[in-house]
Amino acid sequence: MSISSLIEADRKHLIHPVVNYRAHEARGVTVLESAHGSFVRDIEGNELLDAFAGLWCVNVGYGQQSIVDVAAEQMKKLPYATGYFHFGSAPAIELATQLVERTPASLQHVYFTLGGSDAVDSAVRFITHYFNATGRPRKKQFISLARGYHGSSTVGSGLTALPVFHRHFDLPLPQQHYIASPYAYRGDFADDAALISAQVGALEAKVAELGADNVAAFFCEPIQGSGGVIVPPVGWLKAMRDTCSKLGILFVADEVITGFGRTGPLFACEAEGVEPDLMTVAKGLTAGYAPMGAVLMSDEIYRGIADGSGDAAIGHGYTYSAHPVSAAIALEVMRLYHEGGLLANAASLAPRFAQGLDALLDHPLVGDSRHRGLLGALELVSDKASKAGFDAALQLPERIAAAAYRNRLIFRAFGDNILGFAPALSYTAAEFDLLFERLRKTLDEVLAQSDVRAAL
Ligand code: PMP
Repeated sequence: MSISSLIEADRKHLIHPVVNYRAHEARGVTVLESAHGSFVRDIEGNELLDAFAGLWCVNVGYGQQSIVDVAAEQMKKLPYATGYFHFGSAPAIELATQLVERTPASLQHVYFTLGGSDAVDSAVRFITHYFNATGRPRKKQFISLARGYHGSSTVGSGLTALPVFHRHFDLPLPQQHYIASPYAYRGDFADDAALISAQVGALEAKVAELGADNVAAFFCEPIQGSGGVIVPPVGWLKAMRDTCSKLGILFVADEVITGFGRTGPLFACEAEGVEPDLMTVAKGLTAGYAPMGAVLMSDEIYRGIADGSGDAAIGHGYTYSAHPVSAAIALEVMRLYHEGGLLANAASLAPRFAQGLDALLDHPLVGDSRHRGLLGALELVSDKASKAGFDAALQLPERIAAAAYRNRLIFRAFGDNILGFAPALSYTAAEFDLLFERLRKTLDEVLAQSDVRAAL
């Protein structure tokens, strides 16, 4: 198909995730054709530096031949095995074992899904089953964070607290509740300790309001991703975990973005010695080379379900649960993180990423720089002292992303004047330099536009 007929066919037939459909019809699709290392090439031949690892998932970079080889081998040998009827496959069993070894010690059992949304949905289903099976059927209320993102299933979009995922979808569900986001830049906190104690207080107050006997679990991302890369202070995650233990509710860490080296250690929970009751993962698990996610749970939850269900089957399953090709890919991806040196590479280059973002604080458009590991964001302000953002009508993040594209750089524009960055763990020092060279040039170009200047 020619470029123009691809664009036309896309407009006619292909519905895209999380875009405005009419805006997409007017704009047309950008077709990506190939990729290698940290660069993707569009169908017009533009070679772009990807500073967002696809959708914060291609942590190992593009074109890793060893993954291609492992996938081809597994497809030849056994392209599919169901997990139903007590069947299984060696790659899935080996992967479950590795995940249990490499996640916090509290997590002992793994259920494989196709991505993050169904991992979150599965977590909610397992929690519901667990409390029913252990004689606490009233524990059905769920608490999550404002600005949190937990996927696009009905239940997960309700745990999500971003307006576009609720509006028109009749969400949230009545059992879904929120507390404030740990958003230091936009909060009024004297210091990190004050933010943490306000958050603990908010969770305690919400549980008291709902009644501890009615609350099942608290869900959170260790660093909020889709809500605008909100990086809580060190100590926050542990404080929330400990508060959940004290209140007798389950603590669920959604590490779909933060997992697999994105923030430094293999999992963000590791950095603070946090042991969640359940953890959801996806994205970096297969680094985007095939779809796969997982929910991990403690032995107590697993045993509660296993021993409290009589002889009946636990009615939860997907055709592609524990897919052998995805599992084989994940095993190779795991090897690249460890023996392949990618975690070490990311750790050694994270300071360069941090310095590059922080250096842009001198730019007239930039009010905040925040980051951990290779996850980061810049927040744009029209006035640094008052932290006033730009009017949404100006569409500044989208305009910056479009200008960046012309400068051969891809990252993510969020609403609320936020630019997000999640480079692959395989980035080189020279690629970080290129990222920040292109980013500053882009910000300067947009700053020179008269309506942007006028808004300062
Ligand atoms: N949880 C979090 C924290 C996520 O960031 C995402 C995806 N961005 C999901 C869940 C849903 O994952 P998926 O898109 O793979 O369904």
